[in-house]
Amino acid sequence: MNSTKTIGIIGGGQLGQMMAISAIYMGHKVITLDPASDCPSSRVSEVIAAPYDDVDALRQLADRCDVLTYEFENVDADGLDAVIKDGQLPQGTELLRISQNRIFEKDFLSNKAQVTVAPYKVVTSSLDLEDIDLSKNYVLKTATGGYDGHGQKVITSAEDLEEANALANSAECVLEEFVNFDLEISVIVSGNGKDVTVFPVQENIHRNNILSKTIVPARISDRLADRAKAIAVKIAEQLNLSGTLCVEMFATADDIIVNEIAPRPHNSGHYSIEACDFSQFDTHILGVLGAPLPAINLHEPAVMLNVLGQHVEAAERYVTENPSAHLHMYGKLEAKHNRKMGHVTLFSNEPDNVVEFGKGIDF
Ligand code: AMP
Repeated sequence: MNSTKTIGIIGGGQLGQMMAISAIYMGHKVITLDPASDCPSSRVSEVIAAPYDDVDALRQLADRCDVLTYEFENVDADGLDAVIKDGQLPQGTELLRISQNRIFEKDFLSNKAQVTVAPYKVVTSSLDLEDIDLSKNYVLKTATGGYDGHGQKVITSAEDLEEANALANSAECVLEEFVNFDLEISVIVSGNGKDVTVFPVQENIHRNNILSKTIVPARISDRLADRAKAIAVKIAEQLNLSGTLCVEMFATADDIIVNEIAPRPHNSGHYSIEACDFSQFDTHILGVLGAPLPAINLHEPAVMLNVLGQHVEAAERYVTENPSAHLHMYGKLEAKHNRKMGHVTLFSNEPDNVVEFGKGIDF
């Protein structure tokens, strides 16, 4: 039996690149579809350079690969449905459709997976905001197209409503109650269509809505950590998950509330490359191939720092001064402001003493 597969990855950014590296370690071949021929994955795989909605390019990828996967959720699900053969996309397009639209996502999470989400309602125009109770705070989010806080409006007063009304009239939205959380956390879970394996709970610190630092294990009680992992497993089982999924959640004093899911490896799981015995990319590849999945162990408490365009020099200096920190650079040609250029992972029992690049004395 030939166990070497050709894996087609849609998207050649850092997530696709790190998936490809895991696949290559395991002896597989990778072909990437990305609009840019010099994308990060071009360093480790052949690239078909074409737009993501180019059905001919998708068909070429499907024809040449045993298995297909994607590194981001805004893939054209209809285009994929038109070209994939039975079972060729183990993650399926249903999961894509759920995570592309917050209305479908909330419905799936609260009604199908039956996990706790912030109280919400669907908003189709500003009329739906007329009778909201302003003794509470809210976040209005566009149903599609939002990322890293774009397409969102926090509502804490009547003045905020004006902007919120404009957003509500421009696109379908979800109105969520604002959660007074203690911590933002996430859990990575991987499935192979039958079984799942779950990673430790990650604590996430954002700056300007962009992930800046991940601390593992999250500083929450064992009871809440077990609950967060159980929620991630429940969601994965409800989806018959293949590959890696990240569940982003809020931890309050005594509860876990699910915010959203990402149907792929996630920035908050990058620490797993060094800090766990298998990374989220390894289990993604094993999962989409339907292979048995290992139990995941954290070697030691770890911290991951993101390296944005404005942090590259500081990160390079940091690892010269701290040679046991692992610097990953994704090979992006241009270091734009706020662009994710790389990350650093280090083992530490004192996460507060690990200073984010954006908060250090350098900036
Ligand atoms: P999202 O795009 O849903 O991940 O939201 C971006 C960020 O906004 C989250 O990481 C939170 O910091 C914040 N946020 C989103 N939804 C809520 C909520 N319902 N309550 C409080 N903060 C929120």
